[in-house]
Amino acid sequence: MILNHLDIDKIRKQFPVLDQQVYGKPLVYFDNAATTQKPLCVIERERDYYLHENCNIHRGVHYLSQMATEAYENARKTVAQFINARQPQEIVFTRGTTESLNLLATSLGQLLVGEGDKVVVSAMEHHSNMVPWQQMLFRSKGELLVIRMDKNGVLDLNHYEELLKQKPKIVSIAHISNTLGTVNPIKEMIAMAHKYDIPVIIDGAQSMAHQVIDVQDLDCDFYVFSGHKMYAPMGIGGLYGKMEWLEKMPPYQFGGEMVDKVSFEKTTFNKVPFKFEAGTPNVGAALGLETAVKFIQSFDRQEVEAYEDELLRYATEQLSGIEGMRFIGQAPKRNGLISFVIDGIHPYDLGTIIDKMGVAVRTGHHCAEPVMTFFGIPGTVRASFAMYNTKEEIDVFVKAVERAANMLR
Ligand code: PLP
Repeated sequence: MILNHLDIDKIRKQFPVLDQQVYGKPLVYFDNAATTQKPLCVIERERDYYLHENCNIHRGVHYLSQMATEAYENARKTVAQFINARQPQEIVFTRGTTESLNLLATSLGQLLVGEGDKVVVSAMEHHSNMVPWQQMLFRSKGELLVIRMDKNGVLDLNHYEELLKQKPKIVSIAHISNTLGTVNPIKEMIAMAHKYDIPVIIDGAQSMAHQVIDVQDLDCDFYVFSGHKMYAPMGIGGLYGKMEWLEKMPPYQFGGEMVDKVSFEKTTFNKVPFKFEAGTPNVGAALGLETAVKFIQSFDRQEVEAYEDELLRYATEQLSGIEGMRFIGQAPKRNGLISFVIDGIHPYDLGTIIDKMGVAVRTGHHCAEPVMTFFGIPGTVRASFAMYNTKEEIDVFVKAVERAANMLR
């Protein structure tokens, strides 16, 4: 069912965690880029699984095992439809974005990256989309090429084109930066790489909850994401990959489930996606993820996006009046979050004080230390929004920032 308009009060009722006081103040939760809260339907789905359906999957002939297997494979179908994958088998369940990227650095790396080869990432990557490539390239004596960005947090596409001319083997870039909020022009960047026959991985950790993703329209080779940033439980996420790649790629981890025939001499492997799902998966969380997808789909996505954009615009406007305010990341296309520093004030001190006023934001380098080095700052204060946040909460937040800044100046 699609709601005609967003009823934020009704939405908030589905997130009981929001309805509490911290330090005697109503909680304002603006740390959604780190993890979103979970609606009751997701919590109940996981609980129901453990109450009535818990069983290991793909292995048993008995009733419960078959039910759990069917439910898990249905979850895969739902996720595939959500991002418009060609077939459910193109979805590999993982623990989340980090595991998906490690899988790719190991497996796709093994397939494509030889000694001295290059991989392209951007200057605004989360550590998860940088360190796995860097470590893999240390071993292969290769080179990490980094797309430059400007002071607004916009990638330099001319520089990108120059890097592509160096014939890297893989491009791996964030859809939306978790520190700057920049929405990268990934469709264009994918097409640019494809002109050189280079596969592209998109880190969608920050986009799945906020934007409509169509992997066929984007034509990305891989798209990775975390459930817990899109209203689903922790410990589940995924990797979309084009079947022709997944079939060619070697397994990432070895053990039960991912094998076909095993002897002491030789092992053959299961088909995609099971080849990449060694061991017992987090079935309950996968069912929670499916419910989270359905939860997101129950709203008009354009309306949610417009609402969240309005929250961002309003927060930017309200904060800009504060003395010494410096926004980090001013790309024309931003989504979901606002990052800033205030002259002479350490972000950590500011975050700690506003926490005592009930406001939860993230402070620090947000797992993107090179971004902080680029801007010459130790960290930022980051407020990130979800569909259940309100302008009233932004007013509380802005007042808290103002008060804290006055105390610290
Ligand atoms: N990539 C981006 C852009 C992120 O924002 C995050 C988490 O904040 C990650 C990767 C890592 O996600 P996870 O910790 O869920 O694996």
